[in-house]
Amino acid sequence: MIKSALLLTIALLTALALAACNGETAPAHSPGGWGYSGPGAPDKWASLSDDYRACGEGMAQSPVNIAGYAPGDAAPVAFHYPGMSTSARNNGHTIYLDYEPGNGISVGARNYTLLGIHFHSPAEHTLDGESFTAELHLVHQDDSANLAVVALLFRAGVPSSIVSALLDAAPEVGETVDLEPGAKAAAFIPAQLGYYGYNGSLTTPPCTEGVRWLVMREIGTVSPEQAAKMQKLTGGPNNRPVQPLGRRTISIIAGPP
Ligand SMILES: [Zn+2]
Repeated sequence: MIKSALLLTIALLTALALAACNGETAPAHSPGGWGYSGPGAPDKWASLSDDYRACGEGMAQSPVNIAGYAPGDAAPVAFHYPGMSTSARNNGHTIYLDYEPGNGISVGARNYTLLGIHFHSPAEHTLDGESFTAELHLVHQDDSANLAVVALLFRAGVPSSIVSALLDAAPEVGETVDLEPGAKAAAFIPAQLGYYGYNGSLTTPPCTEGVRWLVMREIGTVSPEQAAKMQKLTGGPNNRPVQPLGRRTISIIAGPP
């Protein structure tokens, strides 16, 4: 009786371990899936699946080193963020805060709805060659499924309350927790709304292009403890290296007057 209970326990634990290595819930270092080191490292993403071919063949990939920028004529960004996050997820690659429709950004006549917020540490974009400690991505989508991602960069310094909101909500790998109350979306709006704008891609497989990037010019700070906690949650660094800018240009867009 005791022996069969033990065998059942072992079988259950094995099933759980296998589930944790599968697809979207794969830890950042898992064999077989994509990640940030080892056989699933970023330079191998394109070879892992036909669906990931853009990661290797794409000509407009993200992140990039932001340099050689010039004033552009794109519209300023406006944030409309009245809501709160409804749940937090840990897919082994990062922690996501999920938002119900009702929050969004406008860039000129185009409106994008906030889907969720997640982090990378170290940061993915660099600025004039400078690397940063962390980066938040505020992922938005319009009615035609076009994506616009707002990136917030952080240097090492005093702790960030918005990064704490993400870290405090973090569940275990593969889990989702309901948040009651969730993190206020408005807390993520930077004080200065100037940004670097360019066209790029998702920074994770399938590396889909056609993503409008708005990298905010205001740089925040995170504490060394927060950076260590981010990397502990994701099993190590979760940043894709910078990709060639190619023929693309980067514009500086001022905040609203
Ligand atoms: Zn991201």
